Formats: sequence, structure tokens, C-alpha cells
Amino acid sequence: MALDLNDYIATYNDFPEKGIVFRDISPLLEDGDAYKQATDEIVQYARDKKVDMIVGPEARGFIVGCPVAYDLGIGFAPARKKGKLPGKTVKASYGLEYGKSSLYLHEGAIKPGQRVLVTDDLLATGGTIGATIELVEDLGGIVVGTAFLIELEELHGRDNIKGYDILSLLKY
Ligand code: AMP
Repeated sequence: MALDLNDYIATYNDFPEKGIVFRDISPLLEDGDAYKQATDEIVQYARDKKVDMIVGPEARGFIVGCPVAYDLGIGFAPARKKGKLPGKTVKASYGLEYGKSSLYLHEGAIKPGQRVLVTDDLLATGGTIGATIELVEDLGGIVVGTAFLIELEELHGRDNIKGYDILSLLKY
């Protein structure tokens, strides 16, 4: 029987700063059945979208995207923060629910025309995923879908990535 993945999300008030309700995916990751169920749902979505590459932002985008890439036997490219990638990169800047940041992707990570799924743990304002999409498109990739474990609906992240297909397993 399918698990209720809501039971595997922990909620922390005022983390990492006052006013933020932090949704922590640690319990889901720590439970093999829950992690597998969530991953399998995203694998099915990626199959339906005929994805041939996955890109996820540092660091929880890796946790969601890598097992999907492994299952499908396709590649995963990490979108990383400043100073982490050694080769030539493209850059995209964005605002966060808390703070500001930039993300980078290796220039050769995506081949023009590749069908890309972008993954992260959580969709909040959509800034992070918007920047990741920008990086993929900069390199000529086609973003055919985005996948999250959690969507915080009241932050309207969807409005930041209008026109892109979104899979979110849990909504708050
Ligand atoms: P955003 O760019 O605003 O969509 O924020 C998404 C990124 O920030 C994700 O990578 C999340 O890991 C993290 N994040 C933002 N808000 C929260 C939150 N309330 N709880 C947990 N993670 C969050």
C-alpha cells in the first residue's frame, strides 16, 4: 500500500530565521520505502516526459534528481553555487525566500536540444528553479518538466515558472 508522504515531512517554525516555516525532508530520506516511493513517482513522470537529462540545484536538488537519473540510466548535471565548479560555466542570479544567490552550470553539461527535467526538494518562491531553468536554456536544453517533493502554494512559485510543467508530490 502507498505511504502518505506527508507523514515523512518535519516542520520547524522560525528556521533558518524568524517567520520561516521550514519543511524538512529528512524523515522521508531516512525511510527507504518513503524515499523510494517519492523517487518512483518522479521516475514515472520523467519517463512520460521522455526526459534524457536531469539538472538539480545544490544541494537538495541532487538528492531528488540523482536517484531518478540512476533509475532511468540517464545523466545528472549539478547546478552549483559560486566557486564550486572547476570548468567554464554559465551563471544565473535569483532571489530566495530568505537571501540572494547565484547558480552555475558547466558549459558542456547540456547538449542543445536535450529534453531536461529540473528537480529540487521544494518549490517556494520559484527563484531557485527559475535560475536553474535559465541555465539549462542558456545551453540550449529544453525544460520539459520540473519535479519537487513539496510545493508551498502560498508563495506562488508557479507564477515564476509559468508555462513549465510542474510535478509536486506534496502541497502545503
Ligand atoms: P525558492 O527559490 O524560493 O523557490 O526556494 C527553494 C529553495 O529554498 C529550495 O531549494 C528549498 O530547499 C529552500 N527552501 C525555501 N523555503 C523553504 C522552506 N520553507 N522550507 C524548506 N526549504 C525551503
